[in-house]
Amino acid sequence: MSHHFQNYVAGKWVPAKSGKTVENRNPADDGLVGVFPDSAAEDLNEAVAAARDAYGRWRKVPAPARALKIQRAGELMRERKEEISRQMTREMGKVVAETRGDTQEGIDTAFYMAGEGRRLFGVTTPVELPDKFGMAVRRPIGVAGLITPWNFPMAIPTWKVFPALVAGDTVVIKPATYTPATVCELGLILEEAGVPPGVFNIVCGSGGTVGEAILGHPDVDVISFTGSSAVGRRINEVGGKNLKRVSLELGGKNAQIVLADADLDLALEGVLWGAYGTTGQRCTATSRLILEEKIHDEFVNMLVGAAAALKLGNGLDESFQVGPLVSAAQRETVHSYVDVGKEEGAELALGGEFYEEGECKKGFFYKPTVFLGVKPTMRIAREEIFGPVLSVLKVGDADEAIRVLNDSSYGLSSSIYTRDVNLAFRAVEDIEAGITYVNGPTIGAEVHLPFGGVKDTGNGHREGSFTVFDIFTEWKSVYFDYSGKLQRAQIDVEE
Ligand code: NAP
Ligand code: MG
Repeated sequence: MSHHFQNYVAGKWVPAKSGKTVENRNPADDGLVGVFPDSAAEDLNEAVAAARDAYGRWRKVPAPARALKIQRAGELMRERKEEISRQMTREMGKVVAETRGDTQEGIDTAFYMAGEGRRLFGVTTPVELPDKFGMAVRRPIGVAGLITPWNFPMAIPTWKVFPALVAGDTVVIKPATYTPATVCELGLILEEAGVPPGVFNIVCGSGGTVGEAILGHPDVDVISFTGSSAVGRRINEVGGKNLKRVSLELGGKNAQIVLADADLDLALEGVLWGAYGTTGQRCTATSRLILEEKIHDEFVNMLVGAAAALKLGNGLDESFQVGPLVSAAQRETVHSYVDVGKEEGAELALGGEFYEEGECKKGFFYKPTVFLGVKPTMRIAREEIFGPVLSVLKVGDADEAIRVLNDSSYGLSSSIYTRDVNLAFRAVEDIEAGITYVNGPTIGAEVHLPFGGVKDTGNGHREGSFTVFDIFTEWKSVYFDYSGKLQRAQIDVEE
């Protein structure tokens, strides 16, 4: 594929009207990934108009037929999995084993949603009057404006795009500025799968320009956003004022608890994967490790040794386990949190520095970092860092562990390692989070279960599974009266 990418509007690949472009570079070695349109509101307006026009036709296509296009897209993604995944590694840095997982999540979502085209279940229920029938059906909403982050360049767009299209909505997506290439790849696939012009549109550009234009556009009916809590608040404010449905998947400060009776080797594998996978840049990353006193010192020794042994390098080389951070700015943010942790009096036990060995000096690598002696009040225990920095907190028992875990403004993912089934069930009941793993790390969601969080992690919606249709459809209640006379609900009811 050439290095020059374009917007996809009304079934055509087009540049920004202004002709402006922006370069996207590989965070591992500064190589050019591509040149993308730097679009403005006028480009977005054209895409929304195309989506609005196509909506009238797309909503009339039966859902199973819409879903067949998504199935075909899944098949094409599977054929191109390796190519898509390698480009994704070049685009945002995570190692290719993980970008393959990201692509696979898109494939899984395609096949799951292809099946939903034959379900999209509604409700039937008895009604109170004779010779009358009641049901509720899901109807599409209209035009969906999708705004996505860079850390899951394929998985997150597909979580939104596929259910929206199966539901009968049409879509305009603005990919993250760091990862537009993967979404352009998705556009090529949907085009080849036979999704008609205007049903799916891509407008590349900045959040401040194209993103803002989506929020204020009167013809966008639902906005689905995944990203930071700060931008999520802004989207909810503007979208709320305009009475749009807004679904928000935001940040996390996820914790793994390890109790004294746990399988410590298993818990160690879990925390390494949870804290340092995707270089800590997952909304579900393990950012806090809560250790029961009795095993604290032993586990910390195991952890520091194992984290120090992780190999950092270009994610296209399969001998490496950890890639770079996505950008220089992200690395500065992470590093500034290390300063905060030191000033707050936490003990830096590992890392806390740029990693600049050999070829890595060209990229934004950061050493896996461990802070000990972290208190729940410290900023490094409360704020999302989005990097390979793990804060370790010591607690006396299981009750205190859960209290500390819940002492957070976020509530996305959580994990507890224990062999005590009673404690595990109590934890599942008491932990305030959208996702709890027992004897597994904080990451690893499957596409057919609800995904999302409580508290500041979102506004109550759940992506994944059938629950995503509460974002992309409206309910319509339908009554058929076949009595041939006026029957008044609540009035002509026999007692
Ligand atoms: P971000 O800065 O909030 O950006 C997310 C998207 O919003 C990008 O496409 C961005 O465009 C756009 N945007 C920025 N400002 C905007 C505005 N004023 N109006 C409309 N759109 C705007 O987040 P990020 O740094 O890409 O991603 C990291 C964050 O996402 C973390 O907080 C992470 O926890 C969260 N996340 C959550 C989940 C979840 O499911 N809960 C999953 C993954 C990530 P630009 O790219 O041009 O800035
Ligand atoms: Mg890039």
